[in-house]
Amino acid sequence: MGTLTELFAPDRIAVVGATAREGSIGRAVTDNLLSAFDGEVVPVNPNYEEVMGLSCVDEIGEAAADMAVIVVPPKIVLPAIEQAGEADVENVVVITAGFGETGGDGASREQELKSLAAEYDLNLVGPNSLGVMSTANGMNASFGPDSPEAGNMSFMSQSGAFITAVLDWANDEDVGFKDVASLGNKAVLDETDFVDHWGDDPDTDVIIGYLEGISQGREFIDTAREVTQDTPIVLVKSGRTDAGAQAASSHTGTIAGSEQAYEAGLDQAGVLRAESVQGLFDAAQMLANQPVPENNDIAVITNAGGPGVMSTDAVGDSGLEMASFEQDTLDTFSEQLPAEGNIYNPVDIVGDADVERFRDALDIALADENVGSAMVLSCPTAVLDYEQLAAETVELREKHGKPVAACFMGGESVDDSAAILSDAGIPNYFDPSRAIGALDSLWEYRGIQGRTYEEPADFDVDKDAARAILERVEDRSDNRLGVEAMELLDAYGIPMPDSEIVDAPEDARAVAEEIDGDVVMKIVSPDILHKSDIGGVAVGVADDEVADTYETLITRARNYQPDANLLGVQVQEMADLDSGTETIVGMNRDPQFGPLMMFGLGGIFVEVLEDTTFRVAPVSETEAREMTEEIKTAPLLRGARGRDPADLDGIVETIQRLSQLVADFPAIMEFDINPLVATPDGVAAVDIRLTVDPENL
Ligand code: ADP
Ligand code: MG
Repeated sequence: MGTLTELFAPDRIAVVGATAREGSIGRAVTDNLLSAFDGEVVPVNPNYEEVMGLSCVDEIGEAAADMAVIVVPPKIVLPAIEQAGEADVENVVVITAGFGETGGDGASREQELKSLAAEYDLNLVGPNSLGVMSTANGMNASFGPDSPEAGNMSFMSQSGAFITAVLDWANDEDVGFKDVASLGNKAVLDETDFVDHWGDDPDTDVIIGYLEGISQGREFIDTAREVTQDTPIVLVKSGRTDAGAQAASSHTGTIAGSEQAYEAGLDQAGVLRAESVQGLFDAAQMLANQPVPENNDIAVITNAGGPGVMSTDAVGDSGLEMASFEQDTLDTFSEQLPAEGNIYNPVDIVGDADVERFRDALDIALADENVGSAMVLSCPTAVLDYEQLAAETVELREKHGKPVAACFMGGESVDDSAAILSDAGIPNYFDPSRAIGALDSLWEYRGIQGRTYEEPADFDVDKDAARAILERVEDRSDNRLGVEAMELLDAYGIPMPDSEIVDAPEDARAVAEEIDGDVVMKIVSPDILHKSDIGGVAVGVADDEVADTYETLITRARNYQPDANLLGVQVQEMADLDSGTETIVGMNRDPQFGPLMMFGLGGIFVEVLEDTTFRVAPVSETEAREMTEEIKTAPLLRGARGRDPADLDGIVETIQRLSQLVADFPAIMEFDINPLVATPDGVAAVDIRLTVDPENL
């Protein structure tokens, strides 16, 4: 695939299937192209001599085009693509629908389309795309009803209809775009390709998107990480597929759904995620027009007490904080503001404030080093001229180079001032929480720019030994492994207590005598997933009880399932649960992002507590450490209530080592270490459970 530069800036576009027939897509595309495109438009259609005043050619090979827009019926799309390939037309936009989205014949047609695109090395958008647009050259190669206005955001969408709705709205609101792409079925080009392209486009300052899925999660993360160092990406992601409902046999599999994968993956990618279309554009416009703040402290200047309190609440819900002013600032405020006002944040300059008082207060606040951003929050009064206030706000934002949001509350009386603000890239919202939300995305983006991404560690491991253990599933009817596969951990350097699996009571006793102190005994069977649920785990067994306990465990297992495949009983050294915490380290394979690591509070109540966090593997040390810091019960691990802190480094290393194991073996579908007991002296994996896809080994 070549660069996408020509896709957005072609010289000659062939419209394959162009027609003047009223109401047809072929006509809509030709019309849109004729409206403002700087380059040439060549209709391709053997049925016509000319289309809409343009002379028509029979075949794309005669068009000498560098881009083809294909609107012919589904059955003749493939030959059209082939002809484009033969004619060296590298950029192809397939608007025709009736491919993968319809299943059956359509799905196989899409497979063929992919092969053709690969054969001719095409930049192919779609199929089932609304088209692509660029305001740089007036190109509207789509069948949508509107053309975008020029701007510095580029926009991709998996839904073409959403593009038409957004453009309709954006034109009303004076929101402009550089490029717009309707991704369609993403058979060839997907979000990662567009992010990659726009990341290098000097005229795109913000990338925004509406996605229903991400085609290749890991590639997306790696590409977006780089792009977001310079160009913010804001996405709305909908259509939460229910991967979580897949039959899962591990705890991690039960808890980790595709939503967790997206949340983790998009965060690791440095993408700002908007919860709504409004949030998407609030964030995008702020990022497109204003500088990032130096710190997260905000000053609120207001002539109204109530909304001031609302803004304090909104700040509390965001990543921002109310700035504490320097003494100088407070002194100046005291001199200049009426005594009944409030010189602390939110600065209440009182209901009779005129523009001058507003301006002075904002000027003083923005000059304070503690202040990273500001919000002007005003209610209409007889003494306040909103248009003048807007002009002053614009000037002070320029003067101080700090981001400013406006919240001029009111209805029609606000319109003219809002236009002045908006021309200068300052959004005006009725609701303080929207203004705060928009400023918060600037701050969040600053955090992303400040990130450094490190390579995951590469531990010295015994991959061959691990493979040999995983291959054992090939001889089994099910694809699960349990504690009988614990040497896997050994191969990847994850610590565990001494243990052995035996199949006779006297052997159990012999093993127990080799181990210091009491032991734990567990039933070992691929048919028994949750051993303690059936009384299959005995903790704190003294040596002289070992033989009896062996019999008891076997009896319980037989009672539970008479034909269960019993591999024996594991006799295991005790982990110190008095000074230790049971944690879980796990992995579930997500269809889009691949291996998704989970860390959380472990034990037998994992699903009940659901105190867990996720990262797409392979994880770096920093990411693994963040995981240990962000669960709700992290204070427990750090040593709450006089307890000694757990061996956090040990947990971090275990997460990384498991991450390496599951990255090395795509055949591992799910993996739980539960519990990983973390004491002040170290960590120990006392139980594992995994599923393996033998086809993939
Ligand atoms: P399962 O998850 O199949 O029920 P586990 O081996 O995880 O079986 O055991 C269940 C619980 O028993 C653990 O969560 C832990 O509380 C306790 N336990 C298991 N093995 C040990 C051990 N070696 N030392 C201390 N406690 C253990
Ligand atoms: Mg367990």
